[in-house]
Amino acid sequence: MSTFIFNEHNFDDHEQVVFVSEPKSGLRAIIAVHNTHLGPAMGGCRMWKYANEAQAVNDVLRLSRGMTYKNAVAGLPIGGGKSVIIGDPKQDKTPALFEALGEALERLGGRYVTAEDVGTSPADMAHVARKTSYVAGLGASGDPSPYTALGCFVGAQAAVKHHLKRDSLDGLVVALQGLGHVGYDYARRLRAAGAKLIVADIDQAALQRAQEELGAQVVSIDAIYDVEADIYAPCALGATLNPDTLARLKVKIVAGAANNQLATADIGELLRKKDILYAPDFVINAGGIIKVCYEYLNKPESDVEAHVCTIGNTLTEVFERAEREGVATSVVADRVAEKRFKS
Ligand code: NAD
Repeated sequence: MSTFIFNEHNFDDHEQVVFVSEPKSGLRAIIAVHNTHLGPAMGGCRMWKYANEAQAVNDVLRLSRGMTYKNAVAGLPIGGGKSVIIGDPKQDKTPALFEALGEALERLGGRYVTAEDVGTSPADMAHVARKTSYVAGLGASGDPSPYTALGCFVGAQAAVKHHLKRDSLDGLVVALQGLGHVGYDYARRLRAAGAKLIVADIDQAALQRAQEELGAQVVSIDAIYDVEADIYAPCALGATLNPDTLARLKVKIVAGAANNQLATADIGELLRKKDILYAPDFVINAGGIIKVCYEYLNKPESDVEAHVCTIGNTLTEVFERAEREGVATSVVADRVAEKRFKS
């Protein structure tokens, strides 16, 4: 990283970047408000043992920008932001640490609303909430993952309809990576729609459950990229679409929940050239933030499902426009978001 934030390659005209230091609790955090054009910036708080400060800055700039795009495409009245705490989530957590973060959010006066993320939990957010109301996803009505899974499912249906010209998933083969909170629920929906599952995970118990309950075929974590399938559903790690896997994948569609699936932006175009339809990650996996946003804004829980289901239509528009303009779906998704939050 260069010495100056403005020259940092992930800096994208962020409205505000706040460095927080609170010696009593030992809090060292960075809050990035990327864009508030559509409403207060919302995005989780990540706690991570960053090797150095530059890594933390990079991460918060990149992630906060990503939230602006995700929230805008999802049609939510919120902007994009993110915060990172520099520390080991296994050792360094204390109530005081999260209370100090809450005080920092309070000083921002609602320009940024936090929630749980990698390394933080609803319990941590409860400590934040003792000092500020600018916190969402306190777990009052549960885990957002089922809504993320629902969004992935309707996204897969839209992709199948567009690319394979089929109204049903019956008989299609899905190679699904990661049977966690989102992946298992997504797998269950796919199975109920008649799809056949080939799955990989490092968690043996999850694999056994998928075999028994969903009749899934299990392959090793590396072999998932080589199986013949209609859909590849990445639901574990980022950057699994890269030059190595691109040369191996024998699928027609990519539709999964993982964040940052493209190792580099140019992979979107390479997928298009291989005639693999890519459902852009931040469009298809927005179900969880839709749920969290509704909860924060006190909008009726009963409307969440209908909003999540609009992900299918949004993707269809992205697919059709990408085809018309001869560009990658990832490029169109970015343009759709930018039109909303920049105009
Ligand atoms: P999770 O931690 O519950 O599940 C991840 C699963 O992947 C686990 O079962 C884990 O054992 C497995 N896994 C880890 N390494 C693996 C590997 N090398 N190969 C195969 N499987 C592996 O996480 P989650 O909440 O289900 O989220 C899954 C993905 O979706 C993440 O990338 C997350 O960032 C993204 N996402 C989640 C939500 C949400 O609502 N939870 C929302 C948007 C995006």
